[in-house]
Amino acid sequence: MATKMLACIMVSLCFVTTLQAKEGMWIPTLLQALEDEMQAMGLRLTAEDIYSINQSSLKDAVVHFGGGCTAEMVSSEGLLLTNHHCGYSQIQYHSSVENDYLKDGFWAMNRAEELPNPGLKATFIHRIEDVSERVLNALQGLEGESRAEARKKVYAEIEAEMFVDASLTGGVVEFDFGNQYFLISKITYNDVRLVGAPPSAVGKFGGDTDNWIWPRHTGDFSVFRIYAGEDNSPAEYSESNVPFVPAHHFPISIEGVKDGDFTMVFGFPGRTEQYLTSDAVKHVIETLNPMRIAMRDASLGVINAARSSSDELRIAYASKQSSIANAWKKWMGQSMGLKELDAVGGKIELEDKFKSFASTLEFSEYEGVIEAIQKANEGYYPYLEARALFFELVYYGPDILLHALEFGEIVENYDELLESGELSEKLKLALRTNEEYAKNYNAVVDEGIFRVLSEGYLNYIPEGLAPQNFKEEFNSFNTAEDYAADFYENSIFDNPNELEVLFLKGKSKSIKKLLNDPALKLINELRSHYVTQISPTYSRAKGEIKTATAAYSKGLRMMFPDEEFIVDANSTLRLTFGRVEGSSPHDGMTYEALSTTKGILQKYKPGHPDFDLPLDLVEALREGDWGQYGTDGKDSELIVCFTGSNHTTGGNSGSPAINGDGELVGINFDRTWESTMSDILFDESRCRNIMVDIRYVLWIIDHYAGAGHLVKEMTIVE
Ligand code: ASP
Repeated sequence: MATKMLACIMVSLCFVTTLQAKEGMWIPTLLQALEDEMQAMGLRLTAEDIYSINQSSLKDAVVHFGGGCTAEMVSSEGLLLTNHHCGYSQIQYHSSVENDYLKDGFWAMNRAEELPNPGLKATFIHRIEDVSERVLNALQGLEGESRAEARKKVYAEIEAEMFVDASLTGGVVEFDFGNQYFLISKITYNDVRLVGAPPSAVGKFGGDTDNWIWPRHTGDFSVFRIYAGEDNSPAEYSESNVPFVPAHHFPISIEGVKDGDFTMVFGFPGRTEQYLTSDAVKHVIETLNPMRIAMRDASLGVINAARSSSDELRIAYASKQSSIANAWKKWMGQSMGLKELDAVGGKIELEDKFKSFASTLEFSEYEGVIEAIQKANEGYYPYLEARALFFELVYYGPDILLHALEFGEIVENYDELLESGELSEKLKLALRTNEEYAKNYNAVVDEGIFRVLSEGYLNYIPEGLAPQNFKEEFNSFNTAEDYAADFYENSIFDNPNELEVLFLKGKSKSIKKLLNDPALKLINELRSHYVTQISPTYSRAKGEIKTATAAYSKGLRMMFPDEEFIVDANSTLRLTFGRVEGSSPHDGMTYEALSTTKGILQKYKPGHPDFDLPLDLVEALREGDWGQYGTDGKDSELIVCFTGSNHTTGGNSGSPAINGDGELVGINFDRTWESTMSDILFDESRCRNIMVDIRYVLWIIDHYAGAGHLVKEMTIVE
């Protein structure tokens, strides 16, 4: 949103010039309008060099990686870089106690050693086209069902016209609450192999302690390669596939960056909520975040204790722990930042201005807009909370529930499936999932997670929105421990071996008994309760909020034509630009923009789960032979990370950090603690993204891991 304007209102920062840090995640087709400004800041390319449909451009080297991250092409032979935390579940997937790639790292020394990853996808943007006029015309004057129908129809028409090539996927995507629409066509590759990953002591150095924190010393990168069919087009995994040749790959600058340099981050930011009204921000601070943080505090207590008790559990729960801890810590920082910046007060002031404009004849169509959002919000909050709790319990909770669900259809329709001949295929799939499940599953840990989260869920769920049987069952026990113990005692889904035997025996009667299994019963109840009692009201209220917020967003643009109101992130390709710069987020505190290997050694604590290092790395860091990757001069140093004023969010993880010449200088992976509120309120003076310096990445690959053959594939610019 026009946070600069909000900032003006809030902290008198109106003197900020346009050549400084810049809020905004820009749609690449609209960069022409910003070309002058970017060039004045240090860009030596044109908007057409960044995004073009006529020639290869930077966008052809940017990849939507695994759905939730970004990656970038760095060689003409399909090599890509992303974050260590983006490749984490793949690294875990290939790890075992004998081959502990999480702990020791992994480097394929030749193509045959590169490891396939079922289900991992790498997507390129083929074309983005503004179809707003056509869609808005088709929707004009329509509401409710007829609007939904008309939207479906016009989307289908546009997509049918545009997708003449069968290899293209994608479709029309709504932006800015439905004020704009773009057709986005994509090409997706399915054979993406793991090529290299540093030890977690590098890739995750600092662990949860340093996550979202500056100064930072994390080598958060991993290396993959895309394979394609003989004709360079997408192909399912096959040994005969060949390295994919991208239309563009980033040259890599080892000249590096210095304070003040222009930078861009090009990637797939997931979601921002900059148009939340003051009451909604208050709800985030006072209700939503505390509740979600408490749920995760509880599950992390169980998981962290288990992980420190054995290597098996450390590996088995690595990915789950990270995915829970990441947002948990962000929410804490976000609440803090929103309070410090008095986001609620600032939003109220903006809303008051809006209301007073709306009370004039010229803007009378916006009268009542804020009130409409706030009224819909009131009815929405309980359902938002119930939905968040459902997600916490089912998707970030014990594994037993979703595992039971894998077998749900088979249990419920066993005889029918047997008769129709569909059983064996479905069973094969479910048993394969069971095998995967067995790899990481530990019934004691899972029961612990279930115990704390079922208690938390029922404690936090708003009055009248709890699933009845779950609540009664839980309350029939004296303690959550007793409830969880009984639940696991009576479920077969905590025992993958028994489960397999039961299904392989194939006795219909015994299988049908699973209809009474507590895990299957609970997941069925939670889901049907969610689908019938929560989701419809949630979606209806969200729809009302969206419609009113579309008017709010449009009204702001009309009322304040000289301000920029940015379009919220929606997992589509965006460019953000700013500078390499530090910050001074609190009184008496200054963050420099660059960190060096000195900081790694300062943080090094042998035996500490977050700050231990392999001894050979300690030695190499102490030796300080940086080769071509060090800074110039006699006291050459190796830069590890740097911060910039690029406006990023989750999903920008792994995004290329690019200099004014379009060369790769780093990989984006995080934001500073004081920036975590930027999804709701971006503040140009303190929001900083964190990138790992590409020279550190190359030094680790080349000098430390001895995988210089990968660097040889890249285009290095000195
Ligand atoms: N660490 C984030 C991610 O995982 C990046 C961010 O939110 O700045 O996507």
